Formats: sequence, structure tokens, C-alpha cells
Amino acid sequence: MPRALVVGGGIAGPVTAMALQKAGFETTVYEAFERTADGVGAFMNIAPNGLNALECLDLADVVRGAGFDTPAMAFYRHDGRRLTGDIAFDRVRGTGNTTVQRSDLYIALREEAERRGIPIEYDSRITEAKTVDGTVLATFADGRQLEGDFLVGADGLNSRVRTIIDPAAPSPRYVGVLNAWGLLPAYPTREAPGVIRMFFGRKCFFMYTQAPSGELRWYANPPREVRPDPASLRGGDAWRDELVGLFRRDRMPVADIIRVTPDVPAPFLNCDLPSLTRWHRDRMIVIGDAAHAASPTSGSGASIAMEDAVTLAKCLRDSSDPDEAFRRFEAVRRTRVEAVVAQGKRNIEGNLSGPVRSLVRNHFIARTFRKPASDGRRTLWMHEHRIDWDAPVESAGAEARA
Ligand SMILES: Cc1cc2nc3c(=O)[nH]c(=O)nc-3n(C[C@H](O)[C@H](O)[C@H](O)COP(=O)(O)OP(=O)(O)OC[C@H]3O[C@@H](n4cnc5c(N)ncnc54)[C@H](O)[C@@H]3O)c2cc1C
Repeated sequence: MPRALVVGGGIAGPVTAMALQKAGFETTVYEAFERTADGVGAFMNIAPNGLNALECLDLADVVRGAGFDTPAMAFYRHDGRRLTGDIAFDRVRGTGNTTVQRSDLYIALREEAERRGIPIEYDSRITEAKTVDGTVLATFADGRQLEGDFLVGADGLNSRVRTIIDPAAPSPRYVGVLNAWGLLPAYPTREAPGVIRMFFGRKCFFMYTQAPSGELRWYANPPREVRPDPASLRGGDAWRDELVGLFRRDRMPVADIIRVTPDVPAPFLNCDLPSLTRWHRDRMIVIGDAAHAASPTSGSGASIAMEDAVTLAKCLRDSSDPDEAFRRFEAVRRTRVEAVVAQGKRNIEGNLSGPVRSLVRNHFIARTFRKPASDGRRTLWMHEHRIDWDAPVESAGAEARA
């Protein structure tokens, strides 16, 4: 049985391992951190396309079980008025939409991989790799050298595998805003839980989702034109006051939500990775954020990482050797994922726009979502992607239609 080395135990790594197992490969996942390193972390939304990819592996319920159902989203103006009603996500094909804490998602995926008999080796940080006579030799920080028939780098935004494949690969791009977030154990609202509520403040974008338990998670994109030194970013009371100040002139519940958040964590840089020259070389490939990171503001990075994982396993299943599979994978994936990354950047630009462009944006959103589509549902193009596990990977066109 061909042996796969999967580097990274985040989202793409464990999902790839389970997809490869289904396709008949023996796989081990290597994760840089200790098993206990998962903090609470920010929350994320797993969109219908991500859940559909997981359904190919009977994994969607595992992820739904780790989070809560998120049936709709709504947009608001800076004066608190709604731009849209609650826009239902695509439920027609039954996938829905889920909000989950990052650490809960990681733990759920890793535990499920282990339950299915896939080894996950923690404290295993890849440092080097090379291919000799068709075998990949991967070296880890503790000096171990391990062999595999191919290597999948699912090691995230600051991927080491990316620079092993191409030392000239670009670094992540800072997109001019920070990621700020917080969690409230409870907050009194009269709104239905589960809906993603997005506010276009005059100075800053803000969103929140409330769990059925009452817990409220929020996320904001304070602008910082010049890239700050990440080490200089601090959480705490001064940061909370600064955030509250950004929303002072807006008539939204936002300032109050931030004000009563007990502990506002330090923000971090909002980055993306628009396009790599090389995704693969000599039986090694990068997928997920390591290959194409979308800004968190796109709300799509995790879902397209899940799509990658399933599609890569299909390509390996249907190809005679890994390099051919990697070429097919790139052919069917590159256009789509780079379009999602570009959309994430456009979202940031839209959120940062001045009064005139804000009016245009608001008008566009209100008009787009005013009426239900003719079949009674609404989808965003990013969410429409579907994967048919049983269909062969033939061409870019065939996969895009699936
Ligand atoms: C604040 C925030 C909010 C977000 N919200 C959303 C959202 O709502 N919806 C959405 O779809 N996406 C969201 N994203 C994006 C999403 O988190 C990423 O796109 C997704 O995690 C990518 O998965 P991945 O497996 O490729 O990388 P990761 O999840 O980053 O996993 C990479 C793994 O590789 C490990 N690793 C790193 N280096 C090494 C090494 N040298 N050796 C071994 N292991 C290594 C890391 O420890 C990690 O476990 C958000 C991101 C942020 C930062």
C-alpha cells in the first residue's frame, strides 16, 4: 500500500489523511505542536461547500457536532439598520452551515482520524525534505528521517513545505487590517441564535454569532495601513478601549458588545497568499493555506482546505503516480481557490471604503439579497462547489461542474 506523509494536523491535514485512507493509502499525520497545544482560538464558519466535502468522508456530522448550526447571515449599516433580512444558507442539498471554535474543530478532526486508525505524531516539526529514487525523505526537528511515497504539506500559512518545494515562494501578504476577536459567555439579544450578523461600521467591519447556549463570539477588522510588528500587538483594557472608540459614532450594538467582553485577546495580522508559482515538485505538494490562504474575512479558508483534501485524494486514487495526480489536482483547483482568495481581498477593500463606495456597496448588497432566488434559496458562488467522491477526476471542467 502506498505510504503518504501528511505534514500538519490542522484542518487540511487530518481531512487529507482520512480521504487518502478511503482512497487506499497508508497515511501518518505529523503535527509540529504537542497534542495539548490547542488554545481556545477564534471561531470559524464552515460553509456548505466545506461540509459537502466532509460528507464525502462521512465527516460532516463530526464537525457539526463540534459546533452549532448557523442557518443564515444578515448585513447591517453603520446606523444599525438592516441592509438585508436573514439570508438562509443553502439547505436544499442538506449540507447547511456550522460555526465552530478553531480548537474544537482541530480536536474533533484529529480524534476522528485516530478513531479511524490513522496515526497522528505530535511534536513533529518538518525541517527538510528531498526525493531520492522516487522516495520522499522528510527530516524533522528532532532529527528523525522518515520515508514515504509522497508528501502532502498541509502546514498552514507559514508553511515550511512551501519553501522546501520552492525556496523562492512568496511569504504571506498583509492586507491592511487586523484580526480582532472576543468571546462573551452570555449576552442578552432578542435576535435568533446562529445567524451571522455583519456590520459595516464607519471605521471598521464587525460581525458576531450567538450560540444557542447564549455564548457570543465576535470578530472585527480594525484598519492599520502600515503593517505592525506582530510582537507589538497587545490585548487587554487599552485594546478594548481602542476598539470601542472605532464604533463610537455608529448606532449599532457593537461598542457595547466589546465593552462587556471580559478579556479581549491580542489581535493578529490579517494576511492572505494570493498565488504561488509552484504547488508541487518531486512527489511533494502543498494544499490548504500553505498553497493559497484566503483572508479570514472571506470566511472560506477552512472550507476550501477541506475541498482540497478530498479532491487531492481523488486525484491520487485516479492517477498512476503522485506527480501526475498533483498536476491534475492543480489543474482542477487553482482557478477556483485563487478566485476565493481574490474575493477575500475584495471584501476587505469593500469594508475599508469611504462614504461613496460604502453607499454603492450597501446598495449592491441590499439589491442582491432583496428577493429570494426563483427556487426560494440563496447561495454565494463560493458555497456552490460540490464534490462527487465516486466520479473520476477527469478534467478541470468536470471537477468544476461536480
Ligand atoms: C481569525 C481567523 C478566522 C477565520 N475564520 C474562518 C472562517 O470563518 N471560515 C473559514 O473557512 N476559514 C476561516 N479562517 C481561515 C482558516 O482558519 C484557514 O484557512 C484554515 O485553518 C486552513 O487550514 P490548514 O489545515 O491549511 O492550515 P491550519 O489550520 O493553519 O493548520 C496547519 C497545521 O500545520 C501545523 N504546522 C505548521 N508548521 C508545521 C511544520 N513545520 N511541521 C509540522 N506541522 C506544522 C500547524 O501547527 C497547524 O496545526 C480564519 C482564520 C483566522 C486566522
